[in-house]
Amino acid sequence: MYVTKRRFPVLVLVFVLVLVLQPKELMAPVAVTAIMLTMPGGSGAWEAQGASELVPPLGVVDPLRPYDSKRLLDDARTLARFYPEVLSLTSIGQSVLGNEIPLLKLGNGERHVLWVGAIHGREVMTCAFLLLIAEEYANAYCNLVSYDTYSADKVQELLDEFTVFLVPMANPDGVDVVTSGGSALVPIRDRDTWKSNAGGVNLNRNFPFDWESNIFDGFANNYLNNKGASPGSEPETQALMVLCEDNPFELLVSCHCAGKMLFWRDDKNGEVPGDESLAGTIAGLTGYTMLPSTKRALNGWAGGLENWFRYRYNRPAICLELGLFDTADEMTAAQFHSEDMADWSVNRNLVWGVLEGLPGV
Ligand SMILES: [Zn+2]
Repeated sequence: MYVTKRRFPVLVLVFVLVLVLQPKELMAPVAVTAIMLTMPGGSGAWEAQGASELVPPLGVVDPLRPYDSKRLLDDARTLARFYPEVLSLTSIGQSVLGNEIPLLKLGNGERHVLWVGAIHGREVMTCAFLLLIAEEYANAYCNLVSYDTYSADKVQELLDEFTVFLVPMANPDGVDVVTSGGSALVPIRDRDTWKSNAGGVNLNRNFPFDWESNIFDGFANNYLNNKGASPGSEPETQALMVLCEDNPFELLVSCHCAGKMLFWRDDKNGEVPGDESLAGTIAGLTGYTMLPSTKRALNGWAGGLENWFRYRYNRPAICLELGLFDTADEMTAAQFHSEDMADWSVNRNLVWGVLEGLPGV
């Protein structure tokens, strides 16, 4: 009894010191193990590895089940905990209904590029696409391994030179409408086709670029072209604008569905330095069609994110129409991987390819 009484305070002191000092070699495996225990299917088999090899397995992101705002946040948090060396999670703001608009920063470089997904609610697959990019690229970087045709050295080099800003779900309320029942604001008949935010505004018509040329407004035009009450009236639009103002992005790619094509120039802005080069790179990698310069304001450039970006920064911005279908249904792996959907075996290299195609790389 005497020995126990003497040892107890010593053990408490050691425990407190570990908590206070948090030596990395002690805490990191504990923290990662704790996360694994909360993951479905986390077997813990890899936990026996040494601390330096503690890189989690792939499989957090499931692209076959359409994302909603909650699952996006859950998975983004898990990825940021798994790969802190190269991936961080913040929020660029909140939606009309108060949902976070997550931002994943992938890489440690001083050169910044921006990829945006699901600015249209029903185009939910683009969210899974960007999340999967985040997971697989971060995993390759942390494992010091190659990724498809990109060598381990190239993976390190690209993510040390660049930081890829990923906003996988710019319109969380709109996505929730189509994947998880949405809001009382939205008529049931519209849920499968919903593109707008919870206020019925098409965010890709709400940016302050020739906004007046769009004649569509009001909730009656909700899922198509409602431009909103004023330029940049929506919180989601404002969040993206502030993000762009705060970071000198070399380019923007806004992912949509569908069409297997890309919009890369409009007649209002004309040529933007680097636009044809970037579009050519993406067309070459994807096999998608480069459309002619957009000729009309209405249903064309008025209020568009990429059009505003070209105007504001005189830098290239692409609207990428990924695959042929927008769907909020669960899909099979074969569907997701098919050329008419994500074409993952080809398009998983897209972000690497775009970085590699930039000047000075
Ligand atoms: Zn779209």
